[in-house]
Amino acid sequence: MTDNNGNLQHAEPYKSSSDCAIDRGSLAFLKTKLETRAGDNVMSVHVTAVPVKLASTAIGLIRTILPNDGGVDLQHLRRFAKYHEVNDHVRSAYAKVAPRNDGHIVFVIAAPMAITTRKFLADSLSPTLGSLVFFSIDVPLQAPTSQEQAALWSSRWWPTVYKKSNPFGPHPSIMARAEEDIEGDVRKWMDMAAEVAQQSKAAGFGEAVGVVIVERINGVSRPVAVAADARWLNWPSPGPGNVSAHAALRAIDMVSQWVRRSHEAGEKQEITTKNVGIFRGKPSLPLEEEHYRAQTNQTGYLCHDLEIYCTHEPCVMCSMAIVHSRFGRVVFENRMHTGGLCADGGLGHGLFWRKELNWQLLAWQWTRPTADTGFGFDQLRISDNRNACDELSSRADLNA
Ligand SMILES: [Zn+2]
Repeated sequence: MTDNNGNLQHAEPYKSSSDCAIDRGSLAFLKTKLETRAGDNVMSVHVTAVPVKLASTAIGLIRTILPNDGGVDLQHLRRFAKYHEVNDHVRSAYAKVAPRNDGHIVFVIAAPMAITTRKFLADSLSPTLGSLVFFSIDVPLQAPTSQEQAALWSSRWWPTVYKKSNPFGPHPSIMARAEEDIEGDVRKWMDMAAEVAQQSKAAGFGEAVGVVIVERINGVSRPVAVAADARWLNWPSPGPGNVSAHAALRAIDMVSQWVRRSHEAGEKQEITTKNVGIFRGKPSLPLEEEHYRAQTNQTGYLCHDLEIYCTHEPCVMCSMAIVHSRFGRVVFENRMHTGGLCADGGLGHGLFWRKELNWQLLAWQWTRPTADTGFGFDQLRISDNRNACDELSSRADLNA
């Protein structure tokens, strides 16, 4: 529903109480495939101990004999650490090679073991630093992607620094800006997706799965396509239904119809597509018809930088369609074991951010405020476990 200015208003069941107005739910950025693979990978390094006053001299010498650490990136690691700053595992490794601890030493990472030997280090450093002992420890191979991860790795391995970067996905500052954009109205779009999902289920068109495509320009957002699953529309059952009529594919098809309309037929031409096309892309439900309009920017790619809000994690097919249509952002509520977006669990494809594909986009899972019970939301909650999905599979082999 829209007011006279075209601004969206909540459909009747979702009119907010004061609590709802405050609680927008929460957004969690999906881990990328690389992030989940990187995990706790470690490398082994040579460590030595030098008197505190020689720490800088030691670092300078190491930089001279092994420029750039032989090409291994150690930027995320503290290069030296005091005795009380390291964990027991480092101290016990030191105790095995050191006759005593006088409390006035610092540990220095001398070099990755992959690039040099203890003998080379001893021969190169001892003339200046005196007799040295060496031992080896494991340290994180890659930079941490959060403060929490840095703290965990520091306690487990070696003092580690979080530099607000993510070598495995979008830069944290990009994610933070995007979240600022969407957090104000994410709930509005997710409620709309849930509502159209329920309309489809009630009409017998499809499963209770819905999506909303949103265009955001200069901070102003508006829906350009709303679509529900329509796998049973004009389709014989049983079986998986019409897999081309998944909600995301229908919504993309609706966007494409506007492009065709403006390019081929002129704006006054009526859309002639009927729901006999395989994608069932003609708006059929009340919400679909109400929010069906052209996007403003047409840059050559169908959904370039648009946002898509989904009640359920899109399946692999729909996820690839979202990537190839060049959406900018995707948000879903319920994880699916057949989903294509998540890298940590399920099929594990993490399709939203794969370097081998020619487009990456930002992806979040949204968690509805716990106060949201009733209104039929519960029937949309399909938890990420096989029992819940199998229960659906028994009648629909549900792919979202
Ligand atoms: Zn799908």
